[in-house]
Amino acid sequence: MDGVLVAPEVAALVSAEDLELLRTDAVVSYSCVACGEAGRVPQRPAAVVILRDGLFSLAKLAHSGCAPSSVYDVPGLQARVLAEAEATTSRVAAAWLPVQGGPVPALLFEPVTRAAVDGDGERVDGLASWMLAHGLHLVAGAAVEPPPAPGWTAALDGAGGLIVTAPAELVYDGTLTADASWRAAVAARGSCVLIAGTGLALDSAPATAGEFVDRLAAVAAAGRLVGGVITARETDPSR
Ligand SMILES: [Zn+2]
Repeated sequence: MDGVLVAPEVAALVSAEDLELLRTDAVVSYSCVACGEAGRVPQRPAAVVILRDGLFSLAKLAHSGCAPSSVYDVPGLQARVLAEAEATTSRVAAAWLPVQGGPVPALLFEPVTRAAVDGDGERVDGLASWMLAHGLHLVAGAAVEPPPAPGWTAALDGAGGLIVTAPAELVYDGTLTADASWRAAVAARGSCVLIAGTGLALDSAPATAGEFVDRLAAVAAAGRLVGGVITARETDPSR
């Protein structure tokens, strides 16, 4: 793909599936592993870099002007990544999905660790396949409300807490920032749309509604956007 540079020694270490995932990130929004600033292809070309700590390696994106596509040895990387993954395993955001017939409240969900491989080449990112196996559906974009996902629930408490459960499994237990109108809409419907995908870049808010729709479309085009209408209720934090 134009705008994403991959050196031969890097290509040899990254699976085709992980490369596809990184390319999706590059087009939607990525944060440069060298300078920490955001970038987007094609405005700023990206380079795939491998950070390696013994047998542990991590594929990341950098501005091609900040770091050429290559393999970089980073002692202590594995311990740092594992500590981070334990602290925050996913991001959530409240949004309005501009479906035909009017906007509906949606919960966006994105795992933080991505495209990571351990020494055996095992993938860390298995979110979409896991969620499909647990009753969510592939989503084509922002325009159509996905089908119901029976057994999934979101419990919102008035203090900003959020618990999302799949049938018999806890998916998220953390906080959610949402305004009063979003909360009221969820309470009135008794449900909301859950949209999940790797590459949604929820750490940087989209500048416009159009950019938001583009992000969903880019992740959907990679076959990584899943969702469903889930039961949602408000709970009392004091109980
Ligand atoms: Zn940079």
